[in-house]
Amino acid sequence: MKNVAVLGATGSIGGNTLDVIARHPDRFRATVLTAYRQVEALVELCVRHRPELAVIADPALEGELSRRLAAAGVRCEVASGHDALTASASGNQCDTVVAAIVGAAGLESTLAAARAGKRLLLANKEAIVMAGPLLLDAVAAGGATLIPVDSEHNAIFQCLPGGRPDLGRSGVRRLILTASGGPFRGRTRAELGDITPDQACKHPKWSMGRKISVDSATLMNKGLEVIEAHHLFGAPADAIEVVVHPQSLVHSMVEYVDGSVLAQLGNPDMRTAIACALAWPERVDAGVTPLNLAACEPLAFESPDLITFRCLALAFQALRAGGDAPAILNAANEVAVESFLAGALPFLSIADVVETVLAELPAQPVVDVQTLCERDRGAREAARRVLRNAC
Ligand code: NAD
Ligand code: MG
Repeated sequence: MKNVAVLGATGSIGGNTLDVIARHPDRFRATVLTAYRQVEALVELCVRHRPELAVIADPALEGELSRRLAAAGVRCEVASGHDALTASASGNQCDTVVAAIVGAAGLESTLAAARAGKRLLLANKEAIVMAGPLLLDAVAAGGATLIPVDSEHNAIFQCLPGGRPDLGRSGVRRLILTASGGPFRGRTRAELGDITPDQACKHPKWSMGRKISVDSATLMNKGLEVIEAHHLFGAPADAIEVVVHPQSLVHSMVEYVDGSVLAQLGNPDMRTAIACALAWPERVDAGVTPLNLAACEPLAFESPDLITFRCLALAFQALRAGGDAPAILNAANEVAVESFLAGALPFLSIADVVETVLAELPAQPVVDVQTLCERDRGAREAARRVLRNAC
Protein backbone atom coordinates (compact mmCIF):
# COMPACT_ATOMS: atom_id res chain seq x y z
CA MET A 1 0.00 0.00 0.00
CA LYS A 2 1.38 3.41 -0.97
CA ASN A 3 0.39 6.41 1.13
CA VAL A 4 0.24 9.36 -1.22
CA ALA A 5 0.43 13.08 -0.51
CA VAL A 6 -1.20 15.04 -3.30
CA LEU A 7 0.19 18.57 -3.17
CA GLY A 8 -2.11 20.76 -5.25
CA ALA A 9 -4.97 18.29 -4.92
CA THR A 10 -7.59 20.75 -6.22
CA GLY A 11 -5.78 21.30 -9.52
CA SER A 12 -5.91 19.49 -12.83
CA ILE A 13 -3.03 17.10 -12.05
CA GLY A 14 -4.32 16.71 -8.49
CA GLY A 15 -7.76 15.68 -9.75
CA ASN A 16 -6.34 13.23 -12.26
CA THR A 17 -4.10 11.74 -9.59
CA LEU A 18 -7.01 11.22 -7.22
CA ASP A 19 -8.98 9.60 -10.03
CA VAL A 20 -6.22 7.01 -10.55
CA ILE A 21 -5.81 6.48 -6.80
CA ALA A 22 -9.55 5.88 -6.37
CA ARG A 23 -9.41 3.12 -9.01
CA HIS A 24 -6.95 1.13 -6.89
CA PRO A 25 -7.93 1.26 -3.21
CA ASP A 26 -5.91 -1.92 -2.66
CA ARG A 27 -2.69 -0.18 -3.79
CA PHE A 28 -2.93 3.54 -3.06
CA ARG A 29 -4.38 5.80 -0.36
CA ALA A 30 -4.49 9.60 -0.54
CA THR A 31 -3.30 10.39 2.99
CA VAL A 32 -2.42 14.07 2.56
CA LEU A 33 -4.33 16.61 0.47
CA THR A 34 -3.31 20.24 0.03
CA ALA A 35 -4.74 23.31 -1.70
CA TYR A 36 -4.01 27.02 -1.92
CA ARG A 37 -7.34 28.77 -1.18
CA GLN A 38 -10.07 26.49 -2.55
CA VAL A 39 -11.63 25.44 0.76
CA GLU A 40 -14.83 24.08 -0.71
CA ALA A 41 -13.07 21.95 -3.31
CA LEU A 42 -10.64 20.65 -0.70
CA VAL A 43 -13.49 19.68 1.64
CA GLU A 44 -15.20 17.79 -1.19
CA LEU A 45 -12.00 15.87 -1.87
CA CYS A 46 -11.60 15.10 1.84
CA VAL A 47 -15.15 13.74 1.96
CA ARG A 48 -14.37 11.44 -0.93
CA HIS A 49 -10.81 10.38 -0.07
CA ARG A 50 -10.70 10.59 3.76
CA PRO A 51 -7.07 11.74 4.13
CA GLU A 52 -5.22 11.84 7.45
CA LEU A 53 -4.13 15.44 6.88
CA ALA A 54 -5.60 18.39 4.96
CA VAL A 55 -3.48 21.50 4.44
CA ILE A 56 -4.65 24.88 3.17
CA ALA A 57 -1.72 27.10 2.17
CA ASP A 58 -3.48 30.35 3.08
CA PRO A 59 -3.49 30.50 6.92
CA ALA A 60 -6.51 32.85 6.96
CA LEU A 61 -8.65 29.94 5.74
CA GLU A 62 -7.71 27.30 8.31
CA GLY A 63 -10.67 28.05 10.61
CA GLU A 64 -13.13 27.80 7.73
CA LEU A 65 -11.56 24.53 6.57
CA SER A 66 -11.83 23.02 10.08
CA ARG A 67 -15.46 24.09 10.43
CA ARG A 68 -16.50 22.77 7.07
CA LEU A 69 -14.70 19.46 7.52
CA ALA A 70 -16.38 18.99 10.90
CA ALA A 71 -19.77 19.85 9.37
CA ALA A 72 -19.15 17.29 6.63
CA GLY A 73 -18.29 14.63 9.21
CA VAL A 74 -14.63 14.35 8.14
CA ARG A 75 -12.17 13.73 10.90
CA CYS A 76 -8.62 14.57 9.91
CA GLU A 77 -5.75 16.69 11.02
CA VAL A 78 -5.92 20.24 9.63
CA ALA A 79 -2.99 22.58 9.09
CA SER A 80 -2.25 25.77 7.19
CA GLY A 81 0.55 28.00 5.99
CA HIS A 82 3.79 27.64 4.16
CA ASP A 83 5.64 25.64 6.83
CA ALA A 84 2.78 23.17 7.27
CA LEU A 85 2.67 22.66 3.52
CA THR A 86 6.40 21.96 3.43
CA ALA A 87 6.14 19.64 6.44
CA SER A 88 3.27 17.71 4.87
CA ALA A 89 5.60 16.67 2.03
CA SER A 90 8.20 15.20 4.38
CA GLY A 91 6.09 13.85 7.25
CA ASN A 92 5.42 10.20 7.99
CA GLN A 93 1.82 10.31 6.78
CA CYS A 94 3.12 9.67 3.25
CA ASP A 95 5.76 7.65 1.45
CA THR A 96 4.87 9.04 -1.98
CA VAL A 97 4.49 12.70 -2.91
CA VAL A 98 2.81 14.01 -6.04
CA ALA A 99 4.24 17.51 -6.54
CA ALA A 100 1.36 19.14 -8.42
CA ILE A 101 1.44 22.72 -7.17
CA VAL A 102 1.81 25.22 -10.00
CA GLY A 103 4.81 27.55 -10.17
CA ALA A 104 7.67 28.42 -7.84
CA ALA A 105 5.21 28.11 -4.94
CA GLY A 106 5.83 24.36 -5.15
CA LEU A 107 9.60 24.50 -4.79
CA GLU A 108 10.01 24.17 -1.01
CA SER A 109 7.60 21.27 -0.62
CA THR A 110 9.19 19.47 -3.58
CA LEU A 111 12.64 19.90 -2.03
CA ALA A 112 11.31 18.73 1.34
CA ALA A 113 9.93 15.52 -0.21
CA ALA A 114 13.28 14.91 -1.92
CA ARG A 115 15.27 15.46 1.28
CA ALA A 116 12.94 13.15 3.18
CA GLY A 117 13.62 10.33 0.70
CA LYS A 118 10.08 10.07 -0.63
CA ARG A 119 9.03 8.56 -3.89
CA LEU A 120 8.65 11.91 -5.64
CA LEU A 121 6.29 12.16 -8.60
CA LEU A 122 7.14 15.46 -10.21
CA ALA A 123 4.53 17.45 -12.14
CA ASN A 124 5.64 20.85 -10.82
CA LYS A 125 8.11 21.57 -13.64
CA GLU A 126 8.84 25.10 -12.39
CA ALA A 127 10.56 23.59 -9.33
CA ILE A 128 13.11 21.67 -11.37
CA VAL A 129 13.53 24.51 -13.88
CA MET A 130 14.36 26.90 -11.03
CA ALA A 131 16.44 24.65 -8.88
CA GLY A 132 17.54 21.69 -10.99
CA PRO A 133 20.94 21.02 -9.39
CA LEU A 134 19.63 21.66 -5.85
CA LEU A 135 16.68 19.34 -6.38
CA LEU A 136 18.87 16.57 -7.80
CA ASP A 137 21.29 16.97 -4.86
CA ALA A 138 18.35 16.73 -2.43
CA VAL A 139 17.09 13.59 -4.20
CA ALA A 140 20.54 11.99 -3.93
CA ALA A 141 21.10 13.08 -0.32
CA GLY A 142 17.66 11.95 0.82
CA GLY A 143 17.66 8.73 -1.19
CA ALA A 144 14.45 9.76 -2.92
CA THR A 145 13.13 8.24 -6.15
CA LEU A 146 12.27 10.90 -8.70
CA ILE A 147 9.72 9.93 -11.33
CA PRO A 148 8.59 12.45 -13.95
CA VAL A 149 4.86 13.02 -14.42
CA ASP A 150 5.07 15.65 -17.15
CA SER A 151 3.86 13.56 -20.12
CA GLU A 152 6.94 14.19 -22.29
CA HIS A 153 9.38 13.32 -19.54
CA ASN A 154 7.35 10.37 -18.44
CA ALA A 155 7.45 9.19 -22.07
CA ILE A 156 11.25 9.55 -22.16
CA PHE A 157 11.50 7.82 -18.78
CA GLN A 158 9.56 4.92 -20.31
CA CYS A 159 11.81 4.85 -23.42
CA LEU A 160 15.05 4.69 -21.41
CA PRO A 161 16.19 1.31 -20.11
CA GLY A 162 14.81 1.02 -16.57
CA GLY A 163 14.04 4.73 -16.70
CA ARG A 164 17.79 5.20 -16.34
CA PRO A 165 18.74 8.80 -16.82
CA ASP A 166 22.43 8.30 -17.63
CA LEU A 167 22.61 9.29 -21.30
CA GLY A 168 26.36 8.69 -21.65
CA ARG A 169 26.19 5.01 -20.85
CA SER A 170 22.89 4.12 -22.42
CA GLY A 171 23.85 5.03 -26.01
CA VAL A 172 21.32 7.83 -26.32
CA ARG A 173 21.96 10.38 -29.05
CA ARG A 174 19.00 12.74 -28.64
CA LEU A 175 15.85 13.32 -26.69
CA ILE A 176 13.00 14.41 -28.94
CA LEU A 177 10.29 16.32 -27.09
CA THR A 178 6.98 16.59 -28.87
CA ALA A 179 4.85 19.74 -28.63
CA SER A 180 1.22 20.06 -29.66
CA GLY A 181 1.94 23.57 -30.91
CA GLY A 182 -0.84 24.94 -28.70
CA PRO A 183 -4.01 26.74 -29.84
CA PHE A 184 -2.15 29.20 -32.11
CA ARG A 185 -0.04 26.83 -34.16
CA GLY A 186 0.37 28.11 -37.72
CA ARG A 187 -0.51 31.70 -36.84
CA THR A 188 1.80 34.67 -37.48
CA ARG A 189 2.70 37.38 -34.95
CA ALA A 190 0.36 39.76 -36.73
CA GLU A 191 -2.52 37.39 -35.96
CA LEU A 192 -1.75 37.18 -32.25
CA GLY A 193 -1.98 40.86 -31.32
CA ASP A 194 -5.30 40.78 -29.46
CA ILE A 195 -5.49 37.26 -28.05
CA THR A 196 -7.63 37.02 -24.88
CA PRO A 197 -6.83 34.82 -21.85
CA ASP A 198 -9.78 32.55 -22.65
CA GLN A 199 -8.55 32.01 -26.20
CA ALA A 200 -5.07 31.21 -24.92
CA CYS A 201 -6.43 28.75 -22.35
CA LYS A 202 -8.46 26.80 -24.91
CA HIS A 203 -5.95 24.05 -25.62
CA PRO A 204 -6.79 21.80 -28.58
CA LYS A 205 -5.72 18.53 -26.93
CA TRP A 206 -5.20 18.87 -23.17
CA SER A 207 -7.36 20.21 -20.35
CA MET A 208 -5.04 21.91 -17.85
CA GLY A 209 -4.70 24.73 -15.31
CA ARG A 210 -4.65 28.28 -16.70
CA LYS A 211 -0.96 29.02 -16.14
CA ILE A 212 0.31 25.97 -18.01
CA SER A 213 -2.32 26.55 -20.70
CA VAL A 214 -0.89 30.00 -21.41
CA ASP A 215 2.62 28.53 -21.34
CA SER A 216 1.48 25.99 -23.94
CA ALA A 217 0.11 28.78 -26.12
CA THR A 218 3.40 30.75 -26.01
CA LEU A 219 5.50 27.54 -26.23
CA MET A 220 7.18 28.57 -22.96
CA ASN A 221 5.81 25.30 -21.63
CA LYS A 222 8.01 23.44 -24.12
CA GLY A 223 10.91 25.70 -23.18
CA LEU A 224 10.48 24.85 -19.49
CA GLU A 225 10.26 21.19 -20.50
CA VAL A 226 13.56 21.39 -22.43
CA ILE A 227 15.22 22.64 -19.23
CA GLU A 228 13.37 19.99 -17.20
CA ALA A 229 14.65 17.27 -19.58
CA HIS A 230 18.19 18.63 -19.32
CA HIS A 231 18.14 18.15 -15.54
CA LEU A 232 16.15 14.93 -15.34
CA PHE A 233 18.16 13.07 -17.96
CA GLY A 234 21.52 14.87 -17.90
CA ALA A 235 21.13 15.91 -21.55
CA PRO A 236 23.01 18.92 -22.95
CA ALA A 237 20.95 21.54 -24.82
CA ASP A 238 22.27 20.31 -28.17
CA ALA A 239 20.97 16.80 -27.49
CA ILE A 240 17.38 17.99 -26.97
CA GLU A 241 15.16 18.62 -29.97
CA VAL A 242 11.61 19.92 -30.04
CA VAL A 243 9.25 18.77 -32.76
CA VAL A 244 5.66 19.93 -33.16
CA HIS A 245 3.18 17.07 -33.35
CA PRO A 246 -0.38 18.43 -33.36
CA GLN A 247 -2.14 15.11 -32.69
CA SER A 248 -0.45 14.77 -29.26
CA LEU A 249 -0.37 10.98 -29.53
CA VAL A 250 3.42 10.54 -29.51
CA HIS A 251 4.37 11.98 -26.14
CA SER A 252 8.14 12.09 -26.81
CA MET A 253 10.98 9.98 -28.18
CA VAL A 254 14.50 8.82 -27.48
CA GLU A 255 16.97 8.40 -30.34
CA TYR A 256 19.84 5.97 -29.84
CA VAL A 257 23.27 5.99 -31.53
CA ASP A 258 22.35 2.94 -33.61
CA GLY A 259 19.54 4.89 -35.27
CA SER A 260 16.69 3.40 -33.23
CA VAL A 261 14.03 5.85 -32.14
CA LEU A 262 11.78 4.71 -29.29
CA ALA A 263 8.51 6.54 -28.82
CA GLN A 264 5.77 6.35 -26.22
CA LEU A 265 2.24 6.76 -27.58
CA GLY A 266 -1.19 7.04 -26.04
CA ASN A 267 -4.27 9.19 -26.00
CA PRO A 268 -3.63 12.65 -24.51
CA ASP A 269 -4.74 11.96 -20.95
CA MET A 270 -2.48 12.76 -18.00
CA ARG A 271 -3.75 9.73 -16.11
CA THR A 272 -1.42 7.54 -18.19
CA ALA A 273 1.72 9.32 -16.98
CA ILE A 274 0.32 9.59 -13.43
CA ALA A 275 -0.58 5.89 -13.24
CA CYS A 276 2.79 4.93 -14.70
CA ALA A 277 4.57 7.04 -12.07
CA LEU A 278 2.38 5.82 -9.19
CA ALA A 279 2.76 2.13 -9.98
CA TRP A 280 6.24 2.02 -11.57
CA PRO A 281 7.80 -0.46 -12.22
CA GLU A 282 4.40 -2.15 -12.32
CA ARG A 283 1.47 -1.09 -14.51
CA VAL A 284 -2.08 -0.35 -13.44
CA ASP A 285 -5.27 0.58 -15.25
CA ALA A 286 -5.55 4.36 -15.57
CA GLY A 287 -9.09 4.57 -16.97
CA VAL A 288 -7.66 5.94 -20.23
CA THR A 289 -9.41 5.18 -23.54
CA PRO A 290 -7.23 2.76 -25.54
CA LEU A 291 -5.51 4.25 -28.57
CA ASN A 292 -7.24 3.21 -31.79
CA LEU A 293 -4.44 3.57 -34.34
CA ALA A 294 -6.59 2.72 -37.34
CA ALA A 295 -9.09 5.43 -36.44
CA CYS A 296 -6.75 8.21 -35.36
CA GLU A 297 -5.65 11.14 -37.51
CA PRO A 298 -2.40 10.66 -39.44
CA LEU A 299 0.60 11.55 -37.31
CA ALA A 300 2.27 14.78 -38.46
CA PHE A 301 5.54 16.38 -37.34
CA GLU A 302 6.96 19.84 -38.07
CA SER A 303 9.63 22.21 -36.74
CA PRO A 304 8.56 24.81 -34.18
CA ASP A 305 8.16 28.43 -35.32
CA LEU A 306 10.70 30.20 -33.11
CA ILE A 307 10.02 33.61 -34.66
CA THR A 308 6.36 33.69 -33.61
CA PHE A 309 6.84 31.70 -30.40
CA ARG A 310 9.95 33.38 -29.03
CA CYS A 311 9.55 31.97 -25.53
CA LEU A 312 10.93 28.62 -26.69
CA ALA A 313 14.07 30.30 -28.04
CA LEU A 314 14.42 32.27 -24.79
CA ALA A 315 14.28 29.07 -22.75
CA PHE A 316 17.08 27.51 -24.85
CA GLN A 317 19.02 30.75 -24.35
CA ALA A 318 18.57 30.52 -20.57
CA LEU A 319 19.58 26.86 -20.54
CA ARG A 320 22.76 27.65 -22.48
CA ALA A 321 23.52 30.62 -20.20
CA GLY A 322 23.39 28.17 -17.28
CA GLY A 323 23.50 28.99 -13.57
CA ASP A 324 20.30 30.59 -12.34
CA ALA A 325 19.22 31.92 -15.76
CA PRO A 326 16.40 29.33 -15.93
CA ALA A 327 15.13 30.54 -12.53
CA ILE A 328 15.17 34.13 -13.81
CA LEU A 329 13.33 33.04 -16.96
CA ASN A 330 10.73 31.18 -14.90
CA ALA A 331 10.12 34.04 -12.46
CA ALA A 332 9.73 36.63 -15.22
CA ASN A 333 7.40 34.30 -17.08
CA GLU A 334 5.21 33.66 -14.01
CA VAL A 335 4.77 37.42 -13.49
CA ALA A 336 4.11 38.07 -17.18
CA VAL A 337 1.58 35.23 -17.47
CA GLU A 338 -0.26 36.42 -14.34
CA SER A 339 -0.46 39.88 -15.87
CA PHE A 340 -1.70 38.48 -19.19
CA LEU A 341 -4.34 36.39 -17.40
CA ALA A 342 -5.46 39.53 -15.54
CA GLY A 343 -5.97 41.26 -18.90
CA ALA A 344 -3.13 43.73 -18.28
CA LEU A 345 -0.50 42.50 -20.77
CA PRO A 346 -0.81 41.63 -24.47
CA PHE A 347 -0.10 38.01 -25.35
CA LEU A 348 2.98 38.79 -27.48
CA SER A 349 4.50 40.94 -24.70
CA ILE A 350 5.00 37.91 -22.43
CA ALA A 351 8.18 37.12 -24.38
CA ASP A 352 9.30 40.78 -24.27
CA VAL A 353 9.07 40.83 -20.46
CA VAL A 354 11.05 37.59 -20.16
CA GLU A 355 13.70 38.76 -22.63
CA THR A 356 14.18 42.11 -20.88
CA VAL A 357 14.50 40.52 -17.43
CA LEU A 358 16.99 37.91 -18.69
CA ALA A 359 19.10 40.75 -20.15
CA GLU A 360 18.88 42.80 -16.92
CA LEU A 361 19.91 39.93 -14.63
CA PRO A 362 22.84 38.00 -16.08
CA ALA A 363 23.19 34.40 -14.86
CA GLN A 364 24.89 33.65 -11.55
CA PRO A 365 25.88 30.23 -10.22
CA VAL A 366 23.25 28.37 -8.20
CA VAL A 367 24.62 28.08 -4.65
CA ASP A 368 21.75 27.46 -2.27
CA VAL A 369 17.99 27.73 -1.98
CA GLN A 370 18.04 31.00 -0.07
CA THR A 371 20.14 32.78 -2.71
CA LEU A 372 18.01 31.27 -5.44
CA CYS A 373 14.81 32.52 -3.82
CA GLU A 374 16.35 36.00 -3.52
CA ARG A 375 17.17 35.91 -7.23
CA ASP A 376 13.63 34.71 -7.94
CA ARG A 377 12.27 37.72 -5.99
CA GLY A 378 14.67 40.07 -7.81
CA ALA A 379 13.52 38.75 -11.18
CA ARG A 380 9.86 39.20 -10.18
CA GLU A 381 10.53 42.80 -9.16
CA ALA A 382 12.36 43.43 -12.43
CA ALA A 383 9.44 41.92 -14.36
CA ARG A 384 6.94 44.12 -12.51
CA ARG A 385 9.08 47.18 -13.32
CA VAL A 386 9.05 46.23 -16.99
CA LEU A 387 5.26 45.82 -16.79
CA ARG A 388 4.82 49.24 -15.15
CA ASN A 389 7.00 50.91 -17.76
CA ALA A 390 5.10 49.20 -20.56
CA CYS A 391 1.73 50.52 -19.34
P1 NAD B 1 -3.78 23.96 -11.53
O1 NAD B 1 -3.75 25.45 -11.59
O2 NAD B 1 -4.93 23.24 -12.10
O3 NAD B 1 -3.60 23.48 -10.00
C1 NAD B 1 -2.61 24.02 -9.19
C2 NAD B 1 -2.71 23.50 -7.77
O4 NAD B 1 -1.70 24.16 -6.99
C3 NAD B 1 -4.05 23.78 -7.08
O5 NAD B 1 -4.38 22.72 -6.23
C4 NAD B 1 -3.75 25.04 -6.25
O6 NAD B 1 -4.57 25.11 -5.09
C5 NAD B 1 -2.30 24.82 -5.87
N1 NAD B 1 -1.59 26.09 -5.66
C6 NAD B 1 -1.54 27.14 -6.52
N2 NAD B 1 -0.80 28.14 -5.98
C7 NAD B 1 -0.39 27.72 -4.77
C8 NAD B 1 0.37 28.30 -3.72
N3 NAD B 1 0.85 29.57 -3.83
N4 NAD B 1 0.60 27.57 -2.61
C9 NAD B 1 0.11 26.33 -2.48
N5 NAD B 1 -0.63 25.71 -3.43
C10 NAD B 1 -0.87 26.41 -4.56
O7 NAD B 1 -2.41 23.47 -12.22
P2 NAD B 1 -2.15 22.11 -13.00
O8 NAD B 1 -2.52 22.26 -14.43
O9 NAD B 1 -2.66 20.96 -12.22
O10 NAD B 1 -0.54 22.07 -12.98
C11 NAD B 1 0.19 21.75 -11.81
C12 NAD B 1 1.65 21.57 -12.18
O11 NAD B 1 1.77 20.44 -13.03
C13 NAD B 1 2.24 22.75 -12.97
O12 NAD B 1 3.58 22.94 -12.60
C14 NAD B 1 2.17 22.29 -14.40
O13 NAD B 1 3.16 22.86 -15.22
C15 NAD B 1 2.38 20.80 -14.26
N6 NAD B 1 1.81 19.99 -15.33
C16 NAD B 1 0.46 20.02 -15.54
C17 NAD B 1 -0.10 19.28 -16.57
C18 NAD B 1 -1.61 19.25 -16.78
O14 NAD B 1 -2.07 18.50 -17.63
N7 NAD B 1 -2.39 20.03 -16.09
C19 NAD B 1 0.71 18.49 -17.37
C20 NAD B 1 2.08 18.47 -17.12
C21 NAD B 1 2.62 19.22 -16.09
MG1 MG C 1 4.22 18.39 -20.71
